[in-house]
Parts: sequence; C-alpha cells; structure tokens
Amino acid sequence: MKRLALLAAAALLLALPSAAQIPSPSQFLKLDVGKDKVLADYRQVRGYFRALDAASPRVKVEVLGKTVLGEEMIMAIVSSEENIANEEKIRQTAKRLADPRGLSGAEAERLYRDGKAVVLVTCNIHATEIAASQMAMEWAYALATATDAETRRRLDNVVLLIVPSLNPDGQIMVTDYYRKYAGTKYEGGRMPWLYHHYAGHDNNRDWYMLTQPETRALSRAVYHEWNPQVFVDEHQMGTDGPRMFIPPFADPVDPDVHPLIWREVNLIGSNMALRLEQAGKSGLIYGYSFDAYWIGGTRNTGWWKNITGLLLETASARVASPVYIEPSELRGGTKGLIDYQATVNHPNPWKGGWWRMRDIMDYERIASDALLELASRYREDLLRNVTTRARAAIAAARPGEAYRIPKEQRDWPTAQHLAWLMAEHNVEVRQAANGDYWIPLAQPYGRFITEMMEPQRYPAVRLQPGKDILRPYDVATWTLPLQMGVRVERMSMPEGTTIVTAITPETKEVIARGAKLPRKPRVATYQPWQPSMDEGWTRWLLDTYGVPAKGLSPQDVQKGLSGFDAFILPDIPKDVIATGKRREPAMRYEEEMPPEYTGGLGKPGSEAVRKFVEEGGTLIAFGDGCDYVIEELNIPVRNALAGVKADDYSNPGSLVRLLIRPGHPVTVGMPAETAAFLDSPIAFETTAPAADMQRWVLATYPEEEQDVLLSGWLLGANRLTRKAAAVAMTYGKGKIVLFGFRPQHRGQTHATFPLIFNALWWSVAPAR
Ligand SMILES: [Zn+2]
Repeated sequence: MKRLALLAAAALLLALPSAAQIPSPSQFLKLDVGKDKVLADYRQVRGYFRALDAASPRVKVEVLGKTVLGEEMIMAIVSSEENIANEEKIRQTAKRLADPRGLSGAEAERLYRDGKAVVLVTCNIHATEIAASQMAMEWAYALATATDAETRRRLDNVVLLIVPSLNPDGQIMVTDYYRKYAGTKYEGGRMPWLYHHYAGHDNNRDWYMLTQPETRALSRAVYHEWNPQVFVDEHQMGTDGPRMFIPPFADPVDPDVHPLIWREVNLIGSNMALRLEQAGKSGLIYGYSFDAYWIGGTRNTGWWKNITGLLLETASARVASPVYIEPSELRGGTKGLIDYQATVNHPNPWKGGWWRMRDIMDYERIASDALLELASRYREDLLRNVTTRARAAIAAARPGEAYRIPKEQRDWPTAQHLAWLMAEHNVEVRQAANGDYWIPLAQPYGRFITEMMEPQRYPAVRLQPGKDILRPYDVATWTLPLQMGVRVERMSMPEGTTIVTAITPETKEVIARGAKLPRKPRVATYQPWQPSMDEGWTRWLLDTYGVPAKGLSPQDVQKGLSGFDAFILPDIPKDVIATGKRREPAMRYEEEMPPEYTGGLGKPGSEAVRKFVEEGGTLIAFGDGCDYVIEELNIPVRNALAGVKADDYSNPGSLVRLLIRPGHPVTVGMPAETAAFLDSPIAFETTAPAADMQRWVLATYPEEEQDVLLSGWLLGANRLTRKAAAVAMTYGKGKIVLFGFRPQHRGQTHATFPLIFNALWWSVAPAR
C-alpha cells in the first residue's frame, strides 16, 4: 500500500501517464490478446495504436503510406515524453550523422553525446508469421505505462520505431481466413492465395527494387526521414526445428559490408540470447540458415547503407492455434544444424511439447526488450559507428569516381527508372547538361551503389576441407544495369553536374507499340491453389503497364478459355499445375484444404488449354510452366535439363547471357544480346516439325561455356551452351511461346519485359 502510494505520488510529480488511463490491448479490443485462437486483425491493431497515441505522450503514430489494397500502414514512435516532443531535432541529428559530409570532428562528438539512438522494429511482413503483430501492441503498452527507472532510462536514450505489420493487407487476409475456419479441421491451415496481392512471400525480396507501395513507404521512412542506426525485422520459421534464430548470421558474409555492421549485429544478438536464456527460454540458435550475403530482405539492404540489420526467426504455431511437437519430430537438416542436438551455436535445444502463439510473443518480447536495453547502453557507440561507416564509404571512392547512365541509351525510360530507383534509395543522383545521369561514389551509400551496379561473384566458402561450398540462401545476383538492360559506365564525373531531386521516367516504348494494335489483348494467368508468387508478379507487371490480366483458378480454366487472347502459365512446377500437388513431398501426408480450394488442371483443364490454342489462342509459359506445356501438348521441343542432377547443374538464380534472334514478332526491338534471369533447370532442344507447324528459336545461350554467366553463381554452364532459351511455334490456329528463364522475375528484369509484351501483342496481331 505504502509502495503504491509512493508510486502514485511519483507519477503525479513527473506528470507520468497513468496506467489507469491508458488501456491495455486486451481492454481496448475486448479480446484476450495472445490467447490461443485469438487474433487482433490489422484494423484492430492500428486502432489500438491510435488509442495509445491519444492516451500516451510517449507514443505517436505516423502513417507510412497506403498498401496495394488501400489500407493505411502505420508506424508508432515510442520514446520518452521529452524525446517525442523533440522528434524533429532527433531526426535531424540522425540524418546528419548518417551523411557526415562537411561535419567537423568536434561537431560530430557533440552529436554522439547529445543524440538519441533510433531503432526500428518491423513485424509481420510475412502475414502468417503473425505473433509479432500482436506482441507489438503489448510491447508498446508496456513502454507507454512503465514507471520504473530502468525503462524510463531506456526511453530517454532511444527512439523506438515500431511497425506492427509491414503487410497490413496480408495480415487482414490471414486473420479473416483463420477466423473463417476456426473450429473446423482446416483451422490454422495455409491460405490458398498469396498473402500479398502481388508479391506474396516475395514482399521480403523487394527491398532494393522497391516495386510495391509498402516497400517504398517504409524505405522512405528509413532512408529519407529517420535514418535509424539499428533495424530489426521479426519473422517466424518452421515448427519442428530450433525455437528462435537470433544473429550472428550464417556464412557467407559479404566482404564489402563494413565490419562494424557485423560486430554490432553480433553484440545485439548476443544480448538478446543472453536475456532469453536467463528467462529460461531454450532452443536459441545462431549461425543458422540465414546468411550475411543476400541483399533482398528488409533489414539486409541496410547493411550496404551503414545500418545494422538483424533478422529474428521464431518457430511457428499454426497461426494462433497451438501445436504439439513430439521430441522425435524435432529436426535440424539445415545449414548450421545438421542434426538436432546441442552445438556451440545451439547449446540448449528445446525438448519438444506444446508451442503456442503466446510462446512466440514471449520470445519476441524478451528479444525486443533486450534490443532496447542494448541500444540505450551503447547509444553513443551506435551513433558514432554509423558515422564511421559513412565516412569509410566516402573515403573508399577515388575523387570524382562515379557511374554514368548515358542519355544515349537503347531504352531511355528504363535508364530513367534506374536513376529514379537510386534517388528513391536516397542515393545522390546528378545530371549533366546533356541529360546524362551521374551517380558519384563518394557518398555515404557508396557501397550500396557498387553492390547494385556490379556483377556478383558468390563467395565459395567451405566449412570443412574438401566439403561442398555453402549454397546461396536466395538468388545469387541483383546487378541492376544487367537485369534492367541499361548501359552504365564507371568513370570520372565531369564538372558542372547538378543534384536532381525528382525523376519521373517516361513511358516505355513497349507499351506505346501495343497501342497501335487492333485491340488490347485479353489476358488470363493461371492461379493454382498452391499460390504462385510468379503468378502474382505477372499480374503486377501487367497491371503496372496497363494490360491487366485475370487470374483463373483450375476450375475456371476447366470451364474453357474463350474470351481470352493469351493465357499465361507462370513459373509453377508441372505437377502443381496438373494436380495441385507437388510430386514428391517429403512425406505422403498432405494437409487437407477446403474442397473448393483443391485440385489442378487435370484432364479437363489440359483439354481446355489445348482447345484454346488450337482455336487461335496464344499460350505463354515462364520457367517451370514450360515443362507442363512440353508434357501436355505434342510440340517439337524438349527440356534438355529435365532430371539433371544437382552435382551436374545447379543455379539458385543468376543472370546469364542470351543471344536474341531477330526477325520474329516476339523479339522486336530487342538487342542482339541481353541478360536473362535463370533459375530452373530448363534449356530447350527443338526438332523440325511436320508441315502444319512452324517453330522459331527466339533466343539461345552462348556457344562457349565461359560466356554464359554474367552475374551470380552457376554450376554446369556447359549444360546450357547452344541450347534454346526461348522458342515459339504455331499450334492449330494458335501460338505457343515458351520462356525457359524468368522474363519478369520479381518485377526486376526490365531487360526481358519487352519479350512478354511482344508475345501478348503477337496474340492479337493480324496474321502475317
Ligand atoms: Zn518470414
């Protein structure tokens, strides 16, 4: 009683917000947040944060922007009352330290001393990894209402930026779907559609290309407005391995990233693991699965922009439903944990049992508090190190060293798009009087610029003598000029270039050309019940360039494709297209789906596709989709790499050289050589067809093995030499176009976009 009275008096004295006036998430939402089978959807989460903003001087909500489907995506700023009032000054300090050009040593020292650490935490970019969106509310509530001296000290030193969901649309889809099937045998099962309208899971592969509005909105907040020193992204992984991955990351490491990034990552991660272990949480692992090389994910992109980025991955439940894991079901099987046992990076394995969303939230919360604690204790170091890294990046460039994007360019609108993209990343872009863009390297994001402009050479790291190298985590390349088909040169920047602040790319010629055709093609894409990200990216591409496509389910296709000019089979394994299932799952058991969301094209769908083409339609396939066409339709094409062994040929996704054959409607306007993104083992061999059919090789791989790879990592380039990469043929009254590579991979490969539009224009072109 006495202690309570004392606390109340202290609260009055310091004008602290009182917990009585600030509702907890459960009180406000009238839900038991964190309880089994209970989920707050994004609108509720956002509503709660707005209530916190209204009730607490320690919380301020900012709208980052709108999602694809029109939701407002928010970020909460959480700090001491004083810091919230001084937000603008704190942002300016962070910005000054992130770009220290012209900053004196003495002034920098003053800013390290007086500045606040800015720490960003993003949650739930993958919509089913939902616990963090619930945890975020509890964490913000605890910080808004805490009266203890230690929490107040932390909030005095740190400005926390909390994004409760980086994928509001998906969060809403997942909660809707979960609620719909709660209490049935489908409870907690996977959704039969993508959890981002276009990108699905690839929304965390978009962080250098910035194709989606959610990506652009956060990227603006990070690199233009807040310049945080630390960025932590909270995810979930599978159910039957370690309980939580916390950095240090696994090998390989990108040697071009400043080493202080890794030192800070390891320091912060180690403090998280320490606090979790102290709290009795087992199953923590580092050096596992997730590498320090790949650039595409939220926080990873920041490594090259001097921001310390950490990934957290906690084991999943079935969305909000608990799972019971038998000890014998626990497995390793991944880089960093081959067998499920105690190892130096995994000293206290979890022993199995029940695992629920509450557990995930608890692990995430302890790690998040440990982050705040560490950032408050190392505040000055974090500020100093950002400046050290920025100065090192600037010093690494020779005077005047720059990339030039010449105005004299085969595809100027795409070159402008590249310049726009770099400016969107808060890279300083200049322009000369003749229109050329110049990107000087002596700037804080110099390492990022080089990483984006130069070919990747994947590091061959072996962890034991004679053993295989570590394979890439994701794709092995991201070279923008190659994949966009833009000519860029590294040279000395002339005098007289001026900084540009706004770049609006002109409309692409591929679109203009289409406008001259008799009509816009009516396009459909195949949308399997095992959702395909490549299908989503296909719709994104076509929506973006004004040729919207309709996504068709297996049942839709079975009803026939009349009314469409072109039907696209995206990069989907042929068995998934045919049956809705993969041929060789790890186990025969497959999770049941509601009956309306099952099945593949089957015999009726295959017949519908054949009839569509015979009667004049155009069938277009990308990547793995080609295998289906080869198998189902009698065409004079085979995949020379079908069934190839991983020891003979392996390619996680690299840019390879294509030689384009001119003189066909699908290759109109293409250069003689281009880069294409290839990942599946597909290379075509054709044969001369009978008299009623015409076939064209549209593009081939080079004659010589050493000419094949342009950027990335590829084993067995000799298997591609002299093979066809794209082919077209007539079939009845219709046409077939097969692209063995990925012509619109993740919205990045502008170099090969025109091939897709050409194929669509060909579908409505008058017969020649
Ligand atoms: Zn994830």
